[in-house]
Amino acid sequence: MKVEILGSGGATATPRPNCSCRVCVEARASGLPYTRTGPSLFVHGPNVLFDTPEEARLQLDRSGVTEIAACFYSHWHPDHTMGRRVWEGVGGYDFRHWPPDPAGPTCTEIYLPEQVVADFAEREVRSHFDFLEERGWVRLHELRDGETVELGGVTVRPFRLHEDYVYAFELTEGSKRLLVAMDELHRWEPPAELRGVDLAILPAGLQEHDPFTGERRIHEHHPVLDHEATFVQTLAMVDALEAKRVVLSHIEEIDGLGHDDLARLADQVGRQITFAYDTMVVEV
Ligand SMILES: [Zn+2]
Ligand SMILES: [Zn+2]
Repeated sequence: MKVEILGSGGATATPRPNCSCRVCVEARASGLPYTRTGPSLFVHGPNVLFDTPEEARLQLDRSGVTEIAACFYSHWHPDHTMGRRVWEGVGGYDFRHWPPDPAGPTCTEIYLPEQVVADFAEREVRSHFDFLEERGWVRLHELRDGETVELGGVTVRPFRLHEDYVYAFELTEGSKRLLVAMDELHRWEPPAELRGVDLAILPAGLQEHDPFTGERRIHEHHPVLDHEATFVQTLAMVDALEAKRVVLSHIEEIDGLGHDDLARLADQVGRQITFAYDTMVVEV
């Protein structure tokens, strides 16, 4: 398996419109790897996509992806789903032939874990997917908790995190194991069966304090700390996980750390950690 990070940003991508902070100015001037689009990644081999942020069309177009066997959605949040019209582009619209070209549009298999099905319905995301399915661009598969999917010799196992409307995924191919968690590690305790995975892709967590000076960056009573994991909490999960390699993604612009700062931070914390950037490729 080979993981391609399509988007390494979080709910706030970099640069952020109208922002003149150092990190956004640097990103505008220098482009990749300083710019970050929304959270998405592709696993070559089984050819599986995870989540479609707003920039999904742009991300896939600039990527090395030539065929998408399936897409899994981790949760309903807009930063992970708002690019869902990408399936219309991937599928192709036959404006020209009548009767329709028998080759038809390209149809992508979409897998929705149980709670994602419920949340898509409640949050009015589902109606868009029903439209895409009616047009033949996607085929929806609803997964009960505990169900796995086999794709190209790889087993994909969705499971709930502590924030239990969100799923992470374990991908197994022979003896190789890949953990993909797109977001929301708040209060997660890595279960024993995941210990020692070959590669873990995890959200980086919020920088409650400046990691170099220790200065507080988020007010201690800010409600965001009640539902988002911090970077320091994430490091504790990394230690418990004992993964052979860790890539931290879902990096928020508001954390104020640029690509070079994060490389420095990776050196500082050790632990086989690398911070993701858009277009990064990692072999498992
Ligand atoms: Zn997110
Ligand atoms: Zn900024």
